[in-house]
Amino acid sequence: MPAYVAGKPAPADAFKLSSNENPYPPLPGVLEAAVTAAASMNRYPDMGNTALYAALAEMYDVPVADLAVATGSTGLIYGLLSAFCEPGDEVVYAWRSFEAYPIAVLAAGATSVQVPNTADGRHDLDALAAAIGPRTKVVLLCSPNNPTGPALTQTEVDGFLSRVPDDVLVVLDEAYIEFVRIDDPVDGIATYRRHDNVAVLRTFSKAYGLAGFRVGYSIAPAPIAAALRGVTLPFGVNLVAQAAAVASLEARPELEERVEALVAERTRVVEAVRAAGWRVPDAQGNFVWLPVEADRIAAFVEAAEAAGITVRPLGSDGVRVSIGEPEGNDRLIKIAGSFR
Ligand SMILES: *Cc1c(COP(=O)(O)O)cnc(C)c1O
Repeated sequence: MPAYVAGKPAPADAFKLSSNENPYPPLPGVLEAAVTAAASMNRYPDMGNTALYAALAEMYDVPVADLAVATGSTGLIYGLLSAFCEPGDEVVYAWRSFEAYPIAVLAAGATSVQVPNTADGRHDLDALAAAIGPRTKVVLLCSPNNPTGPALTQTEVDGFLSRVPDDVLVVLDEAYIEFVRIDDPVDGIATYRRHDNVAVLRTFSKAYGLAGFRVGYSIAPAPIAAALRGVTLPFGVNLVAQAAAVASLEARPELEERVEALVAERTRVVEAVRAAGWRVPDAQGNFVWLPVEADRIAAFVEAAEAAGITVRPLGSDGVRVSIGEPEGNDRLIKIAGSFR
């Protein structure tokens, strides 16, 4: 199995722009809620995740029976694949995309069918639809796509779903939904309401800034949610994480402020690196994709580290850099400029 390569930790004086984390401190009230919960660490967490399910159900106006939570949305991807796939079954997804997909497919005993992105880093939805065969159990769509950046439109997804057989599960991974600023963006929740075979995945790791606590959630038709709850680890979302996630949902205005600031920084970075001559795909997450030439990737990563930012090389395809503190973003702009 390929190893999951995590973003490099940053030295004390460096900015870690390698894991698409949120650079802000916890949202107001979240640290206090976590500390209070930590005092009960001798107790098991609420296995029913009651408070978190209630908060999510209210926020999205969905039945509790359609929700499932796990240790990050990565935990839910593993759960869905193990619930739906047997050896020999196929999972179709775009490539390059989230690095956990191929690993999770293998762990489920299934087979990956990877469909190359278009030249501008988008999902090739025609080719994805054409790749669905009799052994396909699951299709994974990632919007915005990590690491290339573009998001899917509702029109694109509606057209795609009309070509997918009803017994194939379509997973819409919306880890970066909060950062999307396009016309007609896909709305996973509106989509799941219209289809029995659509599961939406979201996470507290990115916009909400709780990556270290590991909480993700799925919104899907009740039978799918029940399957997920059945296979995911009992007590997976720990007591502190549950409390922090609920408190985060209550800090909506501050969340939106921070997301807006990150989107503004993203715009600044994308404009600067494009002006320097980079062809950057439409960046709709909290990261930018630099298609660094294969033979210059190592030098780019080294130059970034020397300048005090850690970035994320991905194979021989390019380098992904998260949007972080303005000073870290400034350093990226400088290095990217020197490589053009
Ligand atoms: C970060 C990320 C996730 C979720 O990560 P968790 O921390 O496990 O919730 C899911 N999908 C994509 C595409 C991501 O980039």
